[in-house]
Amino acid sequence: ARRKIIAGNWKMNMTPSEAVELVNTLKPLVANENVDVVFCVPAIDIVPVVEAVKGSNIQVGAENMYFEEKGAYTGEISPNMLVDAGVKYVILGHSERREYFGETNEDINKKMHKAFEHGLTPIMCCGETLEQREQGVTMDFIRQQVKVGFQGITAEQAKEAVIAYEPIWAIGTGKTATTEQAQEVCKAIRECIAEVYDEATAEAIRIQYGGSVNAKTAPDLFVQPDIDGGLVGGAALKPDFGSIVNY
Ligand code: 13P
Repeated sequence: ARRKIIAGNWKMNMTPSEAVELVNTLKPLVANENVDVVFCVPAIDIVPVVEAVKGSNIQVGAENMYFEEKGAYTGEISPNMLVDAGVKYVILGHSERREYFGETNEDINKKMHKAFEHGLTPIMCCGETLEQREQGVTMDFIRQQVKVGFQGITAEQAKEAVIAYEPIWAIGTGKTATTEQAQEVCKAIRECIAEVYDEATAEAIRIQYGGSVNAKTAPDLFVQPDIDGGLVGGAALKPDFGSIVNY
């Protein structure tokens, strides 16, 4: 059976001192050894958060990274910097990065390669807009995101990866996909992985749901056969995250 992975995506929230305070509040609430608990935090919060989670079950993730190791890329953060700071996971291709910062499937694929090269576990995001859902092209769009995102990634690597299905219309809107909608797409993503790789890889890869997950909706979502946890935005900044982790 796949181990659940419940990750918070803090987005652009929490100064370094607020971040430490939040970790100290959440630490006892998320102490569930049966699931993987990850806090994906702003780059500037990584160092103090890694220090603050010491001795707990919390692992630290980044929200983005660049695909080069060093050099003249003003403002960017490299995979080796993340690893040296104690980061284990990195969110790649969040819809906000795609929409506001122009990230393409090809950029995300380069980042996927770099993440694996450095031993970071990618949480690769995919998901459709409301228009795409209404036009009935949800799975065509997501298949393309997954296929290009994983281009050249080996089956052994893919088995370790995490995919987050986040319908854009459900992010920050309070509009959670229904359990059926979320399960349907997560299942189709797993079938896509089986096509690209094989059944063993599809069985191993972990697929999260994200989009207005809260303490109330989490339990139903997380028991679905193809949903292996969640990527949580707003509710990850509140004590609710403890209830979500202990769904
Ligand atoms: P919300 O949980 O705030 O809808 O955000 C979801 C998300 O984008 C997580 O990456």
